[in-house]
Amino acid sequence: MSADDINVLRRDFSKSRWTQLPRDVLVGHNAIEQLPAILADIKPGRSALIITGSATREVAGNQVCAVLSHDYTISHFLATRLDAGLLKEAEQVGREAGAEFIIGVGGGRVIDTAKIVSYNLDIPFISVPTAASHDGIVSGRATLPTENGNVSVQAHPPIAVVADTGIIARAPHRLLASGCADVISNYTAVLDWELAHRLRGEEISEYAVSLSRMTAEILVKNSRLIKPGQEEAAWIVVKALVSSGVAMSIAGSSRPASGGEHKFAHALERIMPGGALHGEVCGIGAIMTMYLHGGDWRAIRQSLIQIGAPTTPEQLKIPDRVVTEALLSAKDIRPERFTILDTGITRESAEHLVRMLYEE
Ligand SMILES: [Zn+2]
Repeated sequence: MSADDINVLRRDFSKSRWTQLPRDVLVGHNAIEQLPAILADIKPGRSALIITGSATREVAGNQVCAVLSHDYTISHFLATRLDAGLLKEAEQVGREAGAEFIIGVGGGRVIDTAKIVSYNLDIPFISVPTAASHDGIVSGRATLPTENGNVSVQAHPPIAVVADTGIIARAPHRLLASGCADVISNYTAVLDWELAHRLRGEEISEYAVSLSRMTAEILVKNSRLIKPGQEEAAWIVVKALVSSGVAMSIAGSSRPASGGEHKFAHALERIMPGGALHGEVCGIGAIMTMYLHGGDWRAIRQSLIQIGAPTTPEQLKIPDRVVTEALLSAKDIRPERFTILDTGITRESAEHLVRMLYEE
């Protein structure tokens, strides 16, 4: 036995990690009808605060109320925007109603609102997504827009996810394609994590890496099935988003699903707020960072095309120079998260990356 081996044996084992996962995940046709059965299983209490958006209330919020109104006391909150003031209002409504749990029914912004409010009120939250536009429908992190751009804040992952594929299939295809692109960007996120592990000694979870990469692979393998208006497509994408969320829960951070392509997306959002959907920008970011990693960037681009997600700034009506600036300033977003875009990218190489997106 070598001296090193003996040292390993003598070292006290002091690691501990708390992994929070959703307890019930129900994906499928008419899943909302089974919400009472989910609640009977998790027993979160009798008083629910339903947070929904103005359009999503019609799409699913009213249906959620209808299936629960007989057995539960329900209060409502309409999340028309997402900022600190609105969060305070929602918390007030929840407190006054004595809400014991929250049901977020809507798209990404509504789910983020429900997630943050449930965290602040310290009560469980159930995610009922009406679109599969990004992996936040399952994860424990939420995006909060502030005056200085979006910030990622800690919240609880949902205690249950009820994803009705009939409703999700009827949402605009652009949202589903964006969700796919968010999952495909897991490829580069894990490459960035591995790079940070090798270069910086950052702790890495092999389980989280494998699950995150496998999720992207399964989605790419099924990309020909991702078609507008198909429940099967909604099914494939929601399962991938759930799996991505589980990888983040295992890691205890967004690392397995958020690398340089996400820093690029956040930088772009800061320069040009509301220019495009989160997943769409991450997909384009993944093409460029995959090139920098020396990987098969054309395969990433091909899958995005197949799914119907954008692959050039022009398709999103974003000027090329904005993309160049976002690539250069990506290093200023979460500087502690080391990625390939933190290795000293020059203006020339950033401009080359953008030109490459238009290559035949
Ligand atoms: Zn994302």
